Amino acid sequence: MSTETQKETLGFQTEVKQLLHLMVHSLYSNKEIFLRELISNASDAAEKLRFEALEKSDLYEGDSDLKIRISFDKEAKTVSIEDNGIGMSREEVIDHLGTIAKSGTASFLNNLTGDKSKDSQLIGQFGVGFYSAFIVADQVDVFTRRAGAAITDAVHWSSRGEGEFTIASTEKAGRGTRIVLHLKDGEEEFADSWRLRSLVRKYSDHIAFPVMMEKEAMPSADDEEETKDVKQAPEFESVNSATALWTRSKGDVKDEEYKEFYKHISHDYSDPMTWSHNKVEGTLEYTSLLYVPEHAPYDMWNREAPRGLKLYVQRVFIMDQADQFLPLYLRFIKGVVDSNNLSLNVSREILQKDPNVDKLRSALSKRVLDMLSKLAKDTEKYAAFWKEFGQVLKEGPAEDYANKEKILKLLRFASTHTGNTEQSVSLEDYVSRMKEGQEKIYYVVADNYNTAKSSPHLEIFRKKGIEVLLLTDRIDDWMMSQLFDFEGKSFQDVTKGELNLGEVESEEEKKQQEETAKQLESLLERLKPVLEQRVSDVRVTHRLTDSPACLVLNDYDMGMQMRKIMEAAGQKVPDTKPIFEVNPEHPLIVKLDQEADEARFADLAMILLDQADLAAGGQLEDPAAYTTRLNKLLLELSA
Ligand code: ADP
Ligand code: MG
Repeated sequence: MSTETQKETLGFQTEVKQLLHLMVHSLYSNKEIFLRELISNASDAAEKLRFEALEKSDLYEGDSDLKIRISFDKEAKTVSIEDNGIGMSREEVIDHLGTIAKSGTASFLNNLTGDKSKDSQLIGQFGVGFYSAFIVADQVDVFTRRAGAAITDAVHWSSRGEGEFTIASTEKAGRGTRIVLHLKDGEEEFADSWRLRSLVRKYSDHIAFPVMMEKEAMPSADDEEETKDVKQAPEFESVNSATALWTRSKGDVKDEEYKEFYKHISHDYSDPMTWSHNKVEGTLEYTSLLYVPEHAPYDMWNREAPRGLKLYVQRVFIMDQADQFLPLYLRFIKGVVDSNNLSLNVSREILQKDPNVDKLRSALSKRVLDMLSKLAKDTEKYAAFWKEFGQVLKEGPAEDYANKEKILKLLRFASTHTGNTEQSVSLEDYVSRMKEGQEKIYYVVADNYNTAKSSPHLEIFRKKGIEVLLLTDRIDDWMMSQLFDFEGKSFQDVTKGELNLGEVESEEEKKQQEETAKQLESLLERLKPVLEQRVSDVRVTHRLTDSPACLVLNDYDMGMQMRKIMEAAGQKVPDTKPIFEVNPEHPLIVKLDQEADEARFADLAMILLDQADLAAGGQLEDPAAYTTRLNKLLLELSA
């Protein structure tokens, strides 16, 4: 028994305490996952050692046979998980197992709702890790020695998972980490060979290192006698298949195995939505296994949040979160890329310069887009995908010019055709429904679905039965400003420019419109000076059927939504005035034309302008003036 020195007691960081409490209480129904988490960590530790040993082979200390060993003691009610991986120094133990919460813990905790079932789903996404040991154990001991450190420089960490832990220096002959779980009363079932073996097979079969367990003794009478007399060294055998999953051929890997592997690499414990596994040979040689998660991570909008793939070179783990291999708009993809073209000593800096990285990035982007196109064939599944990741994908057309067409096909919109808020219409659907003679893809952008749907600009489209896409996400105005056409059909914001429905309107209709416009010329001349301050022009329109007037922008003006976003962000926006369009058929416009009293004419004109502004989702600059004018007219009406 070695003596322990430099023993101290430290408190867990507040966030760690909260996390521990939450985990123990919300994961109770899925407690067996602790084993997967600890094996996953042991495997990470073995990979890290192999990586560091590329440059410093001494770290192997003559033992390069990396493995994980699980043992148990029924009497003592303990289960141990041991690895001969990289191990931890005293500082590392303190940092990783106690004081510094995993990055993102604080923001994770802020996302909790207090609703048990929702929160336990969230914790699944967050990844439970080492602390899951406390779901089944009321005391956890960690004995660890970093590879290369002296035998006397080992560390013993111990905690009951409440508020604090102790840490002491000790001796450990073998490098790496041994974790001893003292099972809680009622959790004795885990100190059992059959139970542990089946859990290893269920959750950790894909681990690239052998997971060893003591060979079952043959229950023959002779054997029993023998073991009583001579104490034999136990024989161990591997319980898992111990080959890196992505190196196996597709046909040999079961769906369940793909799912478990996903959980191992993503620290997510929900199943993935779909995946794509590819082996490519030739000048660019790589294997990739890419997953679409089921849920967006809570930090998807945090630019600093870790993202990227796990990078391997010739099956040797190189780094986590290598973010050079996928564009930003695909940041939600998890997975592994194993390259044969990169050198084993790549660093993040080298990655930035290596031309193979660009090639891989473009190949992997295509893989992901193909995987999504495939997913899109299942409408229901794709709808679920779109809900989670649609907004991120909308960054794609601008970021990834080469794949623009592919990305456009993956976009989904709400539209006047479906009559519900669901974003389910693809551009291909839209084009297939275009009216004879229709040349453009029409859309409107607004803050919300109702404003978009009831926009006066849609009136003529409704009358003609032309579909209009209804865009309401914050990113939409910006995204549309990056798009020009889809399959040769240009995009047209219905609130911009002069309305031209092309051949959907007959020559006769066009002629008649010109006539009515002529008749209202004097009205336009009267309106211009009255509204001059706020509009750049006044003209007659035939885009309206029910509303008296509307506001439109010039084709190249910044859209209303983008304007608002930029203003809110304190940015300067160009000072452009909209165009005021009046509906010659509307009784209010006819009445306005006949109004002889100039003061009343001006009031009515201003009210119509303010209303057009409101209908477009705008905010009145002077709402009080609007109300005063309106009330004046109402009083006259009742007089
Ligand atoms: P994660 O695996 O997501 O990083 P964990 O909570 O599972 O989070 O583990 C926290 C950290 O503790 C790991 O990142 C690692 O640095 C360290 N660690 C855990 N188990 C081991 C081990 N067996 N060997 C070496 N380091 C370990
Ligand atoms: Mg872990």
